[in-house]
Order: sequence, then C-alpha cells, then structure tokens
Amino acid sequence: MERKLSEVLNIGFTGDDVDKLYFAVEEIALQGNPGFNTDRLRAAYLFARKHHGEQRRNDGTPYITHPIAAATIFVSDMMIDEDALIACLLHDIIEDTDVSFGDVERLFGRQVAELVDGVTKLTRIEYSSKDEEQMENIRKTLLATAKDVRVMLIKLADRLHNLRTLDYKSVDKQRDKSAETIEIYAPIAHRLGMQKVKWELEDKAIVYLDPLACSEIKAFLDENHANLERFLDSVRTEIEKKLKEEEVDAEVQSRMKHLYSIYRKMYSQNKDLHEVHDLCAFRVIVSTVGECYHVLGALDSTFHPVPGKIKNYIASPKPNGYRSIHNTYVGRDGILFEIQIRTREMHEEAEFGVAAHWKYKKGGSDGVSVSDENQYAWIREMLGRQEDLDPEQFRRELKSELFADEVMVFTPKGKVVSLPAGATPIDFAYKLHSDIGNHISGAKLNGRIVPIDSKLESGGIVEILTSNATKGPSLDWLEIVRSSEARGKIRQWFKKERRAETIAIGKSSFDDELHRARLTMTEIVHSGALDTALEKLSFKSLEDMYAAIGIRSRSAAQAVHRIRDELIRLQREIYNEVVGEMPPTIQKTSTAKQITRSKSGVLVDGLPDCEVKFARCCSPVPGDDIVGFITLGHGISVHRADCENYCNALVRGINRERWIPVTWGNNEKDTYLVGFYVAAQNRKNLIIDIMGALNSAKVNVDEFSAQSRSPVLATIHVTIQAHSAAEAASVSTKLQHVQGVTSVERRGTD
Ligand code: MN
Repeated sequence: MERKLSEVLNIGFTGDDVDKLYFAVEEIALQGNPGFNTDRLRAAYLFARKHHGEQRRNDGTPYITHPIAAATIFVSDMMIDEDALIACLLHDIIEDTDVSFGDVERLFGRQVAELVDGVTKLTRIEYSSKDEEQMENIRKTLLATAKDVRVMLIKLADRLHNLRTLDYKSVDKQRDKSAETIEIYAPIAHRLGMQKVKWELEDKAIVYLDPLACSEIKAFLDENHANLERFLDSVRTEIEKKLKEEEVDAEVQSRMKHLYSIYRKMYSQNKDLHEVHDLCAFRVIVSTVGECYHVLGALDSTFHPVPGKIKNYIASPKPNGYRSIHNTYVGRDGILFEIQIRTREMHEEAEFGVAAHWKYKKGGSDGVSVSDENQYAWIREMLGRQEDLDPEQFRRELKSELFADEVMVFTPKGKVVSLPAGATPIDFAYKLHSDIGNHISGAKLNGRIVPIDSKLESGGIVEILTSNATKGPSLDWLEIVRSSEARGKIRQWFKKERRAETIAIGKSSFDDELHRARLTMTEIVHSGALDTALEKLSFKSLEDMYAAIGIRSRSAAQAVHRIRDELIRLQREIYNEVVGEMPPTIQKTSTAKQITRSKSGVLVDGLPDCEVKFARCCSPVPGDDIVGFITLGHGISVHRADCENYCNALVRGINRERWIPVTWGNNEKDTYLVGFYVAAQNRKNLIIDIMGALNSAKVNVDEFSAQSRSPVLATIHVTIQAHSAAEAASVSTKLQHVQGVTSVERRGTD
C-alpha cells in the first residue's frame, strides 16, 4: 500500500489556491492530532483532485473545492479521525468519477472505502421515491449507516456545504434540498446533539422554503438592531456584575435567537414578531455542576424569574443527551429572556454532540466505531419513518437484523427453535404454526407456567398450551412479539377475521391525525388528494387504508403526511394549469370553477377549504386585489397585490412558481384587521380628533399608538376591523380630513 500511496503523492502539488485550501484543512487536523499520517491525507487530496479533474461546481469553481470545504467543516465542527477525514475528502469520488470501491480500498484501506461507500449510498437515496428497489437501497444504507455513525457525520458536512452554496442551483433543487434538510438532516443533527450544525442547516434551508417570511424577520431584526444590541449588552453586563460579586468564574454569552427558531415561533404558535419576545438568549458557562446551581440562585435574585418556566436538563437530560438549566426572566420593559446555565463540558457536548467524543479524543488512525445500540436507534427510526411501505414493520425487521442476537430454545421433543433476542412464548407459538399462535392460552418454560409475554432465554424448553376457547390473538401482541413472522401472522388473522373492527380502530386514529394536521375530510376528498394518495400507497379503498392502520402495518400519521403532500402538489398543478408560464402578476381567475363558501373568505382555485392566513405585512381585506403564496406546510399566505414584499419578489423573480391567483369568495368571515399609518402636524387635541374621526366611521379600533417624532411631527399607528376595502378607504378619507393630517397610508398590522 505504501508504494501505491507514493505513486499518488508523485502527482505533486501545484501551489495554487486549491492546494492552499487543502493545506488549511491539514493544519487544523494536525493541531488536534499531531499523530496523523500526512502522507495519507495528502494522497487522499491529490487523488480526489486528480479524479475530479476538470469537473466544476455550478458556481464555476473546481469541483475539488467542495470536498475540501466539507472537510473543513468536518475537522472544525465534527471530529478528527484520520480515516473519516480521508473519507470526507474522497466522499464524492465513487459517485461522480470512475474510481471504484476497490481502487479506494487498495490505496486507503477497507475502513475508508466503506465510509466513502456509505456516504455514496446516502447520496443516492431518493428522498421521495417509493419503489421496491429504493426500499432495498435504503435498507442497505441504513445498515451501513447504523454500523458507523461517521458516515452520517460526513454526510452532514457535505450537506452543510451544499446548502451554503445552494444559490447556484435551480429553484426546484433549492426547494427539494431545503425540504429534505429540514425534514431529515436537521433532525438527525439534533438527535446527534450537534446544535451548531443543526442551526446552520435550518437557518440556511428556511430562507429557500419561505423567503418572504424570512425577509420579514430579517427586516425586523435590522430595524431593531440597535435596541436589541443595547438590551443584550445591558443584561449581559448585569449578569457579569452579579457573578463577580458572587465570585463565580464564568463566561457569559449573549446572542440573538436563530432565524429558524424565530420563524417557528411565529408560524407554529401563530405569533406576531412583536409577540416573539424572547428574541434574545443568554448563556452562562461555568466549571462545575455545583456552580450551575449557584449561578441559578444568583440570577433568580437579580432578575424576576417567570414562574413555571425553569427546565432542569441537568437533573433529567434530553433524549439526545443534552444537559443545561434553562430559566426565563422578565427584564425591564417587560421583555422576556432566557438564560441557559451549563458547564464547559456540557457546552461542548451541546455544540458538537456525539462528535465531541471524537473531537477531544486524541486518537491515531485506528477507526473508532461505536457499537452502542442507543446511538443508532434514532437513525433507524428517523429514516424508517421516511419509508412508505409498512415502515413500522420495516423498522422492526431492520432492528432484528442489525442486532440479530438470537435465542435458541427447545420444544418438549428436543427440536431447536431459533428466535430473535427478546422473543416471547407467543413468538415461539407462531413459529410452530399459525393455529397454535392463534389459540395460545398459556406457556410453560422448563416445566413451569410463565406469562405468554415473558422473555425467553437460550436453552429453555418451551411448551405451548392451547385452547379452542381462545378467541384469537390480541392487537396488543403486535407490540409484544419480536419476530416479524409472528407479527405477520397476527396481522393476517385480523385481516381475515376482524376486518370491521380493525377498520373502525384505523378510522378513529386516522381522524385524530387528520384533525391534528388541521385538515378536513371534505378538503382532502374534494381536492382529489385522498384518491391520489390512496392510489400511490396502493390501497384499493379508503377502508383498506383504515384496516392497514388498524392492524398497525401503517401509521396514521404517515398516511396523513402523505395526503398532505399530495394536496400541496395538486395546488401547484392547479396553479400551472391556470397560469402556465405567465408571470404571476395580478391575475384574476377568469374561470370561476365553483362558487364555494370558504371559512377564510378566500378562494384558492379548486380548493375550497385549504388553510389560509393573511399576511401581516399588508393585511388584505375583501375588495383588495390579492395574490396567494404557497408556504411550506402552513397553507396559503394571502398578500395584497400591491404589497411591498410581493412586488419585491416579482421584481427579483423569487419563487415565481409559488405565487398563485386567489380570489375573495363568499366569505363567512366578518371583519379583517387593517392597519393605517398616519402622519400629522403635532398639535393639541390631535389624538382626540383622530379618535373622533374613527368613531364617526363606526369601526372597531383594535390597536392605537401615537408617537411624537418631533415638536412638529406626530405619527400614529392604528389598526381597525373592516369588512371591505371600500370601508377601509372611507376610514382613510375620514382620517385625511382631520386637521393637520398630512398623509394616511394603508399598512400591515405589524
Ligand atoms: Mn458532496
């Protein structure tokens, strides 16, 4: 192998910028691990550079800069392990060049080849495809991944760099990669405990998924930058002062919350930016657990803790191992903020997760492979959930394959029966015959009666008691048995013997799940989403699907998820039909396909009851020209056609395909919030006169705030409830007639 390596090394460096990028990676790697074999690292780089050759990335840079950038992320944020770093440099070599597994193995050894192969398989997973072959691929990949978590770490570094450079990809690619990142990779980073990577993945991805909302958030943060900074500084100083008094040696950090966490608060809790109070976060890092509690006491006596908000993840860590104490306080001006308290060690773990274990482990080149089952359970669950064909069973089978510890037990006649570890007498009975399983009434282990759900141990003699009085298996057994054989046979019985019952059970959990997703039966039937989804899931009828949910071969959540995806897809198709390639300016829908009443008051073509929210940036009312924006997972957001955000998006050509025509329907909703921005000459009784004007317009005032900007200028924000654009216009006229008012503009309700 040495001789072959030196052949690669003979390619030699050219001293250009790309080489420099590589040497920067090498330098960071060697700082942590002086024992690394630089010949191997350099050979990996030169080998990758040679074989990627003239390939270019979409932004025009040589392809090799991508693996180098991924390696930079890898050595800085994840871990340092010689084989894994080499694999990271080579991660696209099997996928994108003519280099084979064997080539990599000959040069860099089996470990590296398997890592590269694992990443290649992950890359090939089509996130949305469902056929048999893909199933098999995903299965293999899961096996590879679950064998060695380093594969996933390399993939995360790869994905992070791809997101950083996503601007150069097509709009479709941007959407797919971002959605996949939010749905698969960020949760994986989270479960691995790697907050830093997770945040960056989310913040990058959400900008492509909902650019408007993100620019709204960014604009708000920019506008309030000075205030927020001042607030961050003042609280931090106060914390530092207190800790100094208490003689606690601590590092105090202050920061703005991440874009995605603000986004989620706004949309999942349906809050205004102004209501998202806890934009600021603080962190105190100390040396010992004892000091954590000391700091908590000190802070509680300095600020006002909000009752019931304290979370002690030191006493009970999160499932991913996260530890810290969080508490929320009320500052001056009633601003809420959170302080996290943790030790240095907890901090490293929180930032780098599993990677922290490698990062601070000074090791040589011998591969670190962790075989702790718990480390990987989540990977299987996570990716298993992406599967459409019987994911639950798939996951279980996978699990028994992965950790195929077996128990060997005997029949009373001495026949050997092998079962997966943890198997019960029920598994044993079904292994003998379906009829025995279906009529099991009890079990004896080594001659003594045991519960039929007890765990069998190797070497035991098992005798099954049956009775014709037994009416059949129980659905709960599906959770008890360990073998897929038993599970399959139990399902079979219910399918044949208890169809009506399983349909009823399945329907009820489906309905719950549908409700949770805020969808209605009418909506999914009417739009055609249900039929399409059933067909794609290969169910002949709705009852068949209920039955499958009833016998737990499919989860209700997943069925609903699938239907929701179809709904989104159909919305997009309808848009294409109506609008085609024309720019989505203020297109009125000429084909009024149906006059339908809609709860929100807005009609999206063909979809009477899809989820609609009114954009706060411009708050439209009936009579305004409006357009809809397809958000991801939050329905349609309705903007005025003259909304600044919409116009900006049009001008810059952002997300053309996601703007769709919408019209006002026969609305049931009575009033809408409308905001006005009034500028006036400052004078006595100005406010009273404005109130008088509003009063004479007979509208409900929702919010009113006035500020005197200077001795001569006053500005007033007022939010009213209006039924229509005409009413809003008449209010505007009334306001303009107030003495001293210089301008009245319709604004959003922010
Ligand atoms: Mn890559």
